[in-house]
Amino acid sequence: MAPGAHQINGALQHTLKSSIDCSGVGLHSGAKVSMTLNPADPNTGIIFRRTDVAGGGGEVPARWDTVVDARLNTSVGNADGVCVGTIEHLMAALSGAEIDNALIEINGPEVPIMDGSAEPFLFLIECAGLAEQPVARRLIEVLKPVSVGDDRHSAVLSPGRCPSISFEIDFEGTFIQHQQFFTSLVNGTFQSEIARARTFGFEHEITELRAAGLIRGGSLDNAIVVGGDGILNDDGLRFEDEFVRHKVLDSIGDLYLAGGCILGHFHGFRSGHALNHELLRALMEDSTAWRYTDFSETRPAIAAMSSPVAAAATA
Ligand SMILES: [Zn+2]
Repeated sequence: MAPGAHQINGALQHTLKSSIDCSGVGLHSGAKVSMTLNPADPNTGIIFRRTDVAGGGGEVPARWDTVVDARLNTSVGNADGVCVGTIEHLMAALSGAEIDNALIEINGPEVPIMDGSAEPFLFLIECAGLAEQPVARRLIEVLKPVSVGDDRHSAVLSPGRCPSISFEIDFEGTFIQHQQFFTSLVNGTFQSEIARARTFGFEHEITELRAAGLIRGGSLDNAIVVGGDGILNDDGLRFEDEFVRHKVLDSIGDLYLAGGCILGHFHGFRSGHALNHELLRALMEDSTAWRYTDFSETRPAIAAMSSPVAAAATA
């Protein structure tokens, strides 16, 4: 927590204190988009509204049961076929800043990629400030292990005393090689250790994706590009293990589609968006695997969750 910042009440829900805008390009579409983060009422959750869709059918809740595509990024959609793509880095920032309720207006099909990390979104949230709401936050407490995948790719959620995450990637034979990372999501670790980690891709894959009409907005300004024996970005890495930290960031964003903070441990082994969503669906559809808990029922460890962004923004 920042020196002098007062402790926010982690037991209550939060929204933004005011609306705030940004603009950028979509990673896959290359389209220029403007986005506004707005306050929303308690128990709203995170809702996207496509302002370029006529007739009021453009609202899409960001929830595990609205995911329509999780191959290269996470996209949510509604019954009218209106979608919003590449939401994962924004969702991670909302999770890290402890924003429970927000209405995200966007005038295109994809959240802007910004610098490929969650830091620009955290900065926006910090500028808007947080407003406490007089309704208890609900945690999703994992009651028993749930796992998906096989021996090549897997994802597991298991019970734990505080929210924590670990991830392992294996790109043997490339510059990335083998990396693993563990953190408890308390005391601002999201802000200090994860938010700045950028998305990445391999030089040889980029040619194929471009040929398929994807990553039209991708550049060295919003992704790390891995070549034969190093990275193509002149300014280097933000962390030595930035790649695995970004996989952690993606997973935090994907898991926030549960509709609240998950009290438990997530472990990903070479997982990605598709497997993360398969795991979340497996958890949510098994009523014996989780329950809602509020902060008053949880153990003391959870009291340390409040983030420096949240603390500073409400100070
Ligand atoms: Zn990502």
